[in-house]
Amino acid sequence: MIITMDKTASQNEISAVIEKINELGFEPHLSQGKVRTIIGVMGVNTGKVKTEIFEAIPGVEKVSRLEKPYKLASRDFKSDNTTIRVGEVEVGSKDFVLMAGPCSVEGEHQILSCAEVVRVAGGRVLRGGAFKPRTSPYSFRGLKEKGLQLLRKAADQFSLLVVTEVMSVGSIKLVAEYADILQIGARNMQNYDLLEAVNSCKKPVLLKRGPSAEIEEWLCAADYILNGSEFPNVILCERGIKTFERATRYTLDIAAVPVAKRLSHLPVIVDPSHAAGDFHYVPALAKAAVAAGADGIIVEIHPDPTRAFSDGAQSLTFSDFARLAKELKLIASAVGRSM
Ligand code: PEP
Ligand code: MN
Repeated sequence: MIITMDKTASQNEISAVIEKINELGFEPHLSQGKVRTIIGVMGVNTGKVKTEIFEAIPGVEKVSRLEKPYKLASRDFKSDNTTIRVGEVEVGSKDFVLMAGPCSVEGEHQILSCAEVVRVAGGRVLRGGAFKPRTSPYSFRGLKEKGLQLLRKAADQFSLLVVTEVMSVGSIKLVAEYADILQIGARNMQNYDLLEAVNSCKKPVLLKRGPSAEIEEWLCAADYILNGSEFPNVILCERGIKTFERATRYTLDIAAVPVAKRLSHLPVIVDPSHAAGDFHYVPALAKAAVAAGADGIIVEIHPDPTRAFSDGAQSLTFSDFARLAKELKLIASAVGRSM
């Protein structure tokens, strides 16, 4: 249930609604917009409560029941776009945010050289896996804390932010010591314990869409995170879904960008690298992302993709990446964004 307050509702009227929600044993979740306040009624079986209970309170404009299984991520709950500010970077604003780096942090020279290239290209966020989810347990699974340290050092040297994956509840604290944005990977999109626990670090979360997840399931996953957070802190990331097509690793669901942006107020970015699985297609998908209205991309690069410990086939060389960044700038400005 979502309660929309009148534009002129006073603080006392808002408090009366909150009190009623608490009295009924539910939890209020406030969204203070520029124009009006919207209050989500959170809890089990809110459907059993009559809307009249709230409609009768002065200052309430309307009470709506949501047919959607998610609330906090929805446009009904917050009608204006959410901007997530991390340091100097704003995701979901007019800026198109370029995030890039290697699939895995492999060593100091590798990550420092990537960081320099990202900075020069106009990127704002350095990516790199230190805890790697791998299909085969015998593949390279990351440098763990050493990788986090190298990533932080490289990002600081080139004034970049850090985004890196957290795979387990037990490592949230450690990852958050080094990262500015915590990534929850595609494989963990429905790891509900992890989604709920990640808020303990009070940092923004980049939530990848699961390869087999519907957009609705993805937004429900976002709600698991938002429910424990005082401010909207989720960046959605489309990274390709499973289809019958085998020419690419996954199929980039480019339509997911406008769909997610229409259904949700959260920023949406695209990962063209994992979607394509092949460097030949990454630039085209990245450019499609800006044109489709994404708020940024996260792309894999490597000083020598043929020697990469993971995902070399989809990693861009530095020169291909620099060329892509220039093209992205042109498209971004054509669609009213800056990069
Ligand atoms: C990654 O970004 O390093 C990654 C493993 O991506 P995904 O979770 O989308 O497969
Ligand atoms: Mn990868």
